[in-house]
Amino acid sequence: MKTLGTETAFEVLAKAKALEKQGKDIVHLEIGEPDFDTPRNIKDAAIKALNSGYTHYTPSAGMPELRQAVATYISNTRKLDVKPEEVVVTPGGKPIMFFSILALVNAGDEVLYPNPGFPIYESMINFVGAKPVPIQLKEENDFGLDTEYLKKMITKKTKMIILNSPENPTGGVVTREQLKAVADSIAGRNDIFVLSDEIYSRIIYEGKHESITQFPGMKDKTIILDGFSKTYAMTGWRLGYGVMRKDLAEKVAQLMTNSNSCTCASTQLAGVEALTGPQSEPERMDEEFRRRREVIVPGLNNIEGITCKKPHGAFYVFPNITGTGMDSRTLQDHLLNNAGVAALAGTSFGKYGEGYLRLSFANSVENIKKALERIAKAVKKK
Ligand code: PLP
Repeated sequence: MKTLGTETAFEVLAKAKALEKQGKDIVHLEIGEPDFDTPRNIKDAAIKALNSGYTHYTPSAGMPELRQAVATYISNTRKLDVKPEEVVVTPGGKPIMFFSILALVNAGDEVLYPNPGFPIYESMINFVGAKPVPIQLKEENDFGLDTEYLKKMITKKTKMIILNSPENPTGGVVTREQLKAVADSIAGRNDIFVLSDEIYSRIIYEGKHESITQFPGMKDKTIILDGFSKTYAMTGWRLGYGVMRKDLAEKVAQLMTNSNSCTCASTQLAGVEALTGPQSEPERMDEEFRRRREVIVPGLNNIEGITCKKPHGAFYVFPNITGTGMDSRTLQDHLLNNAGVAALAGTSFGKYGEGYLRLSFANSVENIKKALERIAKAVKKK
């Protein structure tokens, strides 16, 4: 268990809640979830399902209706031919990380992953006894992927490459050219898998989402991770999925049988409604994120000691805070304890996050403005 990491967002949230209990006012910019309510039609579908008797186990890999809806959705959005047997439904997208690494990566293997990046990648790589090989995402490259470096880091022991676009925590987007370079660099290697975390694929501000699966031979090597948490404001429902070749899907379903048995039945039917019902609500949420981005980025750039790039996707900013004279963790603690702003140190996302903070702008414009004022004051005082 010593090798298992964690996600500090949940720890900072707990600390912030404890301060609120003592009467402190905290603006929450730490947790990665939309502040919107789940759209009404999706909630109604779950209520209908419960009242119609969908209160029992389902197949481990997911209900046929949802596997079909996901297969159609991924086929349409990624321009692929995906069959329902290639879909495994899980309680959130996160279990797909857990299961695919458990299923494919052995002790001693090497896994390339983005750093700064979602902390569970490194945690899980370490947990199975494999070697984490960080690919640094640099501000000067707009937090894109350094494919030359990535190519150099591929060895005989490489078993998996993890991609995440749009990226948490930087808001970086991996370009089509960069994805092609990754695909080309493993063209002759059928022993390397790609875990493509596309959970933010619908929250993108410029251009359109690109998946590595579009390149020849990549569909069979890739596990697409996606879900409902971010797109449909459904974090608490726990609903996500992986798309992968059939033989792997069967093994991942077996891991589901051994752990969760299945995903909640009424939640799955809510997922069918989310994918097949009207899309106006997620579109409205995206517009709102875009509006907030226009507030938070200039606001941060106006604070002395802080510079901030415009994120291309997701709902995070990753400002450079080196000009404040504080390291990431010191600033995180200072903001929480003395300024009433909950944010995350860049180092919560790996060693290359030093010098940065992650702020989520899944909060109202009013609260974002309040947080900006507080940060400006706190940084000046220090
Ligand atoms: N992948 C990334 C990059 C994330 O940021 C998150 C959640 O924060 C997830 C996956 C998992 O989301 P969920 O398990 O709620 O579907």
